[in-house]
Formats: sequence, C-alpha cells, structure tokens
Amino acid sequence: MTDFHSERAIKSTRKQHRCEQCGRAIEVASPAHYAFGIYEGDTYSTHTHVECHAAARGYAELTGSWGEDYPWFQHMDRDIDWTGWLLEHHPIVAERLNIPPVEDEVEA
Ligand SMILES: [Zn+2]
Repeated sequence: MTDFHSERAIKSTRKQHRCEQCGRAIEVASPAHYAFGIYEGDTYSTHTHVECHAAARGYAELTGSWGEDYPWFQHMDRDIDWTGWLLEHHPIVAERLNIPPVEDEVEA
C-alpha cells in the first residue's frame, strides 16, 4: 500500500477531540488542525490545536525532524533543549503541557 498523508485546517470542530500534541481537549466549535494518512500500512488520524500544530511544525523545521522523528510533545522526554525553545516561542503550548517557566538563578 502506498504511503499517503493529507492534512487540513478545520475552522470549527463539530465534536470534542483530544490534541495529540498536548493531550488536552479541543473544545467543540474550536479551530483545529487535522491530519490523516497511511504509513507502512497503518492508517492514522490526528487532531491538534492550531497553536500546538504550529509549535510542532516549527520545532520539526528547526531540528529537521520529520516522519518517525516528528515531535509529539506530550510523548517526549522533558529536555531543556525543546522545553526552553517552547517556553520562548510558544508559551501557550508550554502552559498546556505544564512546563514550568525557567526561573533565573538568583546570585548569592
Ligand atoms: Zn494542544
């Protein structure tokens, strides 16, 4: 079977979904990003918050992580490399993932 991938923006969801990036609910009538495809014989479909999708796409572009390496934030080990980047560039998504802001070290 040929691999296949499609994605589209949903202006307003008709039912509640769970965001594959942050694990939180995407409320009814919210905008969302939807992806559907076939990879090595398995079908997949994902809904993500628009902001979470933008963050993941941005991080993939930054690090060249595509296909199996594509970032799925809720499943990634917490690592300052990406949490720090997320806090700086996508604070809304960092908050959804409960990533605490980095406190500046106080000089003694
Ligand atoms: Zn999300």
